[in-house]
Amino acid sequence: MVRTFYNELADKINKIKDSFNRPLTLSEKILYSHLYNNKNIVSLRRGVDYVDFAPDRIAMQDATAQMALLQFMMAGENRTSVPASVHCDHLIMAKSGAPEDMKSALITNREVYDFLSSVCNKYGIGFWRPGAGIIHQIILENYAFPGGMMIGTDSHTPNAGGLGMVAIGVGGADAVDVMTGMEWELKLPKLIGIKLNGKLNGWTSAKDIILKVAGLLTVSGGTGCIVEYFGEGAESLSCTGKATICNMGAEIGATCSIFGYDDSMARYLFATGRKEIAVLADKNRKHLNSDPEIFSDPTKYLDRFIEINISDLEPHINGPFTPDLATPVSRMKAEVEKNKWPVKVDAGLIGSCTNSSYEDISRAASVVKNALNVRLTAKSEFKITPGSEQIRYIAERDGYFKLFEKIGGEVFANACGPCIGQWDRKGSDQNLVNTVIHSFNRNFAKRTDGNPNTHAFVASPEIVTAIAISGKLTFNPITDTLLNSEGKEVKIAEPVGLELPPQGFGKIENGYQEPEKNGSDVDIIIASDSERLQPLKPFKEWDGSDFSNLPLLIKAKGKCTTDHISMAGFWLKYRGHLENISDNYMIGAVNYFNDKTNLILNQLTHKYDTVPSVARAYKSAGIGSVVAGEENFGEGSSREHAAMEPRYLNVKAVIVKSFARIHETNLKKQGVLTLTFSNKEDYYKIKENDKIDITVLKEFSPGKQLTVVLNHPDGEKEKITANHSYNETQIAWFKAGSALNLIRKSKKST
Ligand code: SF4
Repeated sequence: MVRTFYNELADKINKIKDSFNRPLTLSEKILYSHLYNNKNIVSLRRGVDYVDFAPDRIAMQDATAQMALLQFMMAGENRTSVPASVHCDHLIMAKSGAPEDMKSALITNREVYDFLSSVCNKYGIGFWRPGAGIIHQIILENYAFPGGMMIGTDSHTPNAGGLGMVAIGVGGADAVDVMTGMEWELKLPKLIGIKLNGKLNGWTSAKDIILKVAGLLTVSGGTGCIVEYFGEGAESLSCTGKATICNMGAEIGATCSIFGYDDSMARYLFATGRKEIAVLADKNRKHLNSDPEIFSDPTKYLDRFIEINISDLEPHINGPFTPDLATPVSRMKAEVEKNKWPVKVDAGLIGSCTNSSYEDISRAASVVKNALNVRLTAKSEFKITPGSEQIRYIAERDGYFKLFEKIGGEVFANACGPCIGQWDRKGSDQNLVNTVIHSFNRNFAKRTDGNPNTHAFVASPEIVTAIAISGKLTFNPITDTLLNSEGKEVKIAEPVGLELPPQGFGKIENGYQEPEKNGSDVDIIIASDSERLQPLKPFKEWDGSDFSNLPLLIKAKGKCTTDHISMAGFWLKYRGHLENISDNYMIGAVNYFNDKTNLILNQLTHKYDTVPSVARAYKSAGIGSVVAGEENFGEGSSREHAAMEPRYLNVKAVIVKSFARIHETNLKKQGVLTLTFSNKEDYYKIKENDKIDITVLKEFSPGKQLTVVLNHPDGEKEKITANHSYNETQIAWFKAGSALNLIRKSKKST
């Protein structure tokens, strides 16, 4: 597939360039060379028009794959239409170190792994067993290729942009579209260009670039955009450093981020055994980069342009509770004091899919070595989560784990663990206020250890390591000294690292299971009494009537991420069981009317109860309901459970000030009506015991506003208007009851 892709690339790009008759950015080259149908591409408007694409491959992680594959099984196909892979990484609990944790994961999650393995075997999907590693690291090491396009059922899929790929996080229903050979639809993204000048030095690393960008653009600043990095600074970064930046681009809401093909990518491809791809990419180098005119006049061709001088960039620490609260390390003391964040750091954690490259591990290890040289030990706990078995193997072989052990470091399994609330941390159930610092990407409340009072900060692996040694959030390794075991004031020398392992990656048993050539005889077993897996039933079609008298379920106040809507941690175990996981719907969201989580008014009983209980009460009474929210509703992960749960619980519409892209699409795909207030102040008009009508649904059409009537309890009615972003296809999803219902219908009729 990759060989054919490169053989055809020059021809395709030349045709696209002829159509446009202007220079093209890298993203445009990749997007337009992956169209599902040839359209009049020149007339397509960025940020406005929906376009159908044909991605090259799909990746799914175990938590989202369960629901994606349960949906795929309903579609009536024999094989997946494009190469796909499933990665067992999210369900492994970090507790006592890799060996014990792996043993326990294999027992606890056995039925889920068996289910995924059998579905993969049946439908021709590559299966990466538990322990093989984290989805994005495995993709970078094995599948990503410059100029390609992939989607993944995980919001950090853009990690592959580090190898020059347009890689986009989606919900499972999108993956089902592509696996069934259908088009995959996306609003044509706008383009943000970020020129990196200079070269990193000292304590600063690639992570600090994205921490800085997150501070500049905030969690929603990249929404609907592809971020393209270029400039001498970009070329000076390692391929894995680029991947870190693209990975964490999800934290600014970007559709994806990307770097043009360069020597660092060639080096990484060679090192990971993909010489042939490097040679083919080299031949196509000019097609795998933006045209030179884009670099010389970026504002003419891009929707937004930013320049950063990385020679002057300071290490940053972002957080707590949001990844865009960026503070340069020299200002931490003042910020910690001003905000009264707990200074003492209880744990430092490095690794994850974001930051566990050889370069990251070797730089963190050099911090440890430098600290040991001046007789320092670590004041905080120190944990390491390797991104893959490949990385774990070389880090151990090259002596880095031995160094970490000397400061009490503990190596967790090659899995997500503390990055997704899967850290069974001693004492976290006591909800004590405390600080941790990690090199992951997200730090929303409860995401590290389930404790809402854990203040999680994000930094580079080398800064995390230095802070874990100091035990203080205010420690600035560039300027500060620490007292060593001999009572002397000492400094930790600057870290140094290696881009790639000098001894190579080596040959290992990587945990991959090749699917059966013909899987027609493979049985998929789901126990009838399973608590974790449940076959799906199609959602009902829209009955053609307006929605009337729907009680407000919850008006969510402030930040409402997918973690608030459908929590991870404990709930990960129900990701294949829609009925059971629906018991976590909106339990993390704050009720606008009482500032409490998971306590809302039941309009039938006039008593307060949990969100899922009230939703189930309405559902049992045959009543639908409405959810309201504020800005960037559903930011964070791609998990479609956050969209399937409200659909299952009979929530008919979600009306918010604005949506995060993936969540809005997920809701649309499941048949939940997604609306935004045309006047954002109307959010405040919704009262706790309102009944809501949504009218003119019969005339539901692209660009036409809908009317929402708020029936207040005193008999007063208030009419407001709501916008929507549905196109014709998406309206058809709504009418059919879900996108999958529409796929099934069209498959039946062909
Ligand atoms: S961001 Fe965290 S939870 Fe997501 S894939 Fe990476 S390690 Fe796993």
